[in-house]
Amino acid sequence: MTVDPAGPADRVHVRAPGKLNVFFEVGAVQPDGYHDVASAYQAVSLVEDLWAENADDFSLTVSGSVDVAGVPVDDRNLALRAARLLAGEIGHRGGVRLHIDKHVPVAGGMGGGSADAAAALVACDALWGAELGSSGLHRLARRLGADVPFALMGGTAIGTGRGDQLNRALAKGRFDWVVVTSEDGLSTPEVYGHLDVMRGRSNIALAPRTPDVDPGVLQALRVGDAVALAAHVRNDLQTAALSLRPDLRDVLELGEGSGALVGIVSGSGPTLAFLAADPESALELQVALSVAGHRALHVHGPVAGARIVSE
Ligand code: ATP
Repeated sequence: MTVDPAGPADRVHVRAPGKLNVFFEVGAVQPDGYHDVASAYQAVSLVEDLWAENADDFSLTVSGSVDVAGVPVDDRNLALRAARLLAGEIGHRGGVRLHIDKHVPVAGGMGGGSADAAAALVACDALWGAELGSSGLHRLARRLGADVPFALMGGTAIGTGRGDQLNRALAKGRFDWVVVTSEDGLSTPEVYGHLDVMRGRSNIALAPRTPDVDPGVLQALRVGDAVALAAHVRNDLQTAALSLRPDLRDVLELGEGSGALVGIVSGSGPTLAFLAADPESALELQVALSVAGHRALHVHGPVAGARIVSE
């Protein structure tokens, strides 16, 4: 059922998007172990579906079109943690039964767990009639993880700090991407750790300046120009991710040799994202990569953040 305008619902369905970082600059490691980053996020049409129903306890089941074997169904799961956090915040006595249908690759660098957390916040807020509003939900989202606020917001945004200080970016038109997923995930902390080691070894003195998004990226997003965006995409985690997964270099080359404007590692990888000039080129690229034996999906962005779906 949908949300009853007269009061809380008894079952809520929420859809939340995965993300691509079309630009990701990583600053020096901070004393607390985290890095300051500057990120340009785009929410894409690879989405997570979550259903929430009132129950006495907190529980979770997971299905999906991706391999969900590595997804914890206990309190390590970000969606369950989100539900408990919200319940604690509003003093809700009961629990919730969550079901997630996953389509974002697990540990793929596309923020699937963060999307689930954002979806759980929106769902429980509606289910329990909490009415925290977007700023209340955003505040809780930041406590759950750096990418959770963006999964709530969706669209196109610039993230600074740990990536969670968000400002909506002006964006026009639609960008077509072909996403190539990998069976084995990469751990985000491991990729950051490897980046630090690589930077230390090569004695790259990181400028103490605060990371910033290239103005060329903002301009390309503002006018909806895929060719211009391709000239400015960048991901500082890419070298570290490729060092841990050297096999991905060949896939990047194949995509770029098969019509992609550019290919990048998505977030901390190992998912690769290829930008196409238009939907037709994306389709051709998807076919070329699939024929070569890769799992290639055609997605587009920007799309909305976590939203209730009417059933
Ligand atoms: P991030 O970049 O935020 O680490 P990611 O997109 O690379 O995210 P996720 O799929 O979000 O990767 O999950 C990373 C790890 O988090 C998984 O390996 C899993 O152990 C754990 N996890 C916790 N909650 C979830 C969830 N709802 N879905 C998937 N993984 C989850």
